[in-house]
Amino acid sequence: MKFDQPLYEYVLRATKSFEESLDSRPVTPDETSMQSLNGFEEPFSEKGTKPLNVIKMLNEVGEPGVVSSRGGRYYGFVTGGALPVAVAANWLAASWDQNAGPGVLSPTAAKVEEVAGGWVLDLLDLPRESGFGFVTGATMAGFTALSTARNRIYKNLGYDVKADGITNAPKIRFIMSDEIHPTNIIALQYLGYGKNELEFVPCDDQGRIISSKIPPLDDHSIVLLQAGNVNSGSFDPCHEVADLVDGTGAWLHIDAAFGGWVRASKTRSHLAAGIERADSWSLDCHKWMNVTHDSAICVCRYPDAIRDMFGVQAAYLVEGPLRESNHYTPELSRRARGIEIWAALKHLGRDGFAALIDRTCNHAKYVASELEEMGFEILNDVVINQIVATMDEDKIDDFISAVQKSGKTWFGPTLWKGRKAFRISISSHVTTREDTDIALLAIKEAL
Ligand SMILES: *Cc1c(COP(=O)(O)O)cnc(C)c1O
Repeated sequence: MKFDQPLYEYVLRATKSFEESLDSRPVTPDETSMQSLNGFEEPFSEKGTKPLNVIKMLNEVGEPGVVSSRGGRYYGFVTGGALPVAVAANWLAASWDQNAGPGVLSPTAAKVEEVAGGWVLDLLDLPRESGFGFVTGATMAGFTALSTARNRIYKNLGYDVKADGITNAPKIRFIMSDEIHPTNIIALQYLGYGKNELEFVPCDDQGRIISSKIPPLDDHSIVLLQAGNVNSGSFDPCHEVADLVDGTGAWLHIDAAFGGWVRASKTRSHLAAGIERADSWSLDCHKWMNVTHDSAICVCRYPDAIRDMFGVQAAYLVEGPLRESNHYTPELSRRARGIEIWAALKHLGRDGFAALIDRTCNHAKYVASELEEMGFEILNDVVINQIVATMDEDKIDDFISAVQKSGKTWFGPTLWKGRKAFRISISSHVTTREDTDIALLAIKEAL
């Protein structure tokens, strides 16, 4: 195969100029930049285009519309900024173009992902015997875990749901807080359950499930908790709930999409105490772990339970000595996204990862205290990297849009306990004190 040097060199130069622009370009594209995207609207042509010209067009027309979530002042949703080592690993792995499903299709992917998953269990102190699958996001990690949980609960009840289906199956109960991240409800809807069938439990003022309000559990129950409320960053009381689950035969799943990583912190890991007692966990890697999109891990204490659910059998899929990754995910074929996780962990090490978590939490604490100084009301205990704040509710929409238009920083609205608010999430490894000061100045000006 001939190496297209000008093509790849162009990409390298474009990447350099993009990354170097991150400190100065608007955090989100302005109207004029968005106009550029109309350049993509052309009829599909009969004739092809040279690769270099395709990539030039992608860069020239597309780059102005890019959101600078890789920079230090993007505080919307929960969005990490990919570490350079993760981007580089992504490039190299893209060039290898491996199918990370069956082991025989990529010994390298099988080995690197096996190591990366083991390191994640070690970093977060989860049961080392757990199985893990590399999926696109926490939504799919939740889907993977909940499918596995349902299959195992039915197996324990002597019912083969994979053979006989859910139509005539014994009823399963799903118990979760009324603050559960909505993607878990979507995952249950994929699995055939309606929202009205789910049992919602009220929360306290921080969005933590009130464990005394959890109904009696049994061997037909699947309990969902969260480590890291998407607004407040609060943690459900996992020990209290695990005590209720113990001995009942119920399954405990924890949506630890971003909050789970706090287990790596040297100062805040106590917030996520008890999550190790669950049966399964969802962990996002493209958020606080700062790897490239899309990336998440589903972890399950019983590797055979995921394999029972997702192990694809076919005469042509001969199992070998390598890790058969496709037995742990809903997909058969997929990209080797675990390679970026391995690269990020190898680069940061335990101390570097802890520093990333603690640094972003400290930035959030600082920003919250400065906001309070300016007269905003902080609605949550700022325990990790999340801030929920409010002001005069008649003015808040205009305020948020003024901040967004400034191009200096970006965050969005939310509702917290029925009050209009805005939420700030500081999740990027590149954010500095100087970035937060620039953002705070933009907030002051918007006020
Ligand atoms: C972001 C998030 C999800 C959904 O994750 P995706 O990666 O967007 O699929 C689920 N739960 C929590 C708590 C989250 O923060």
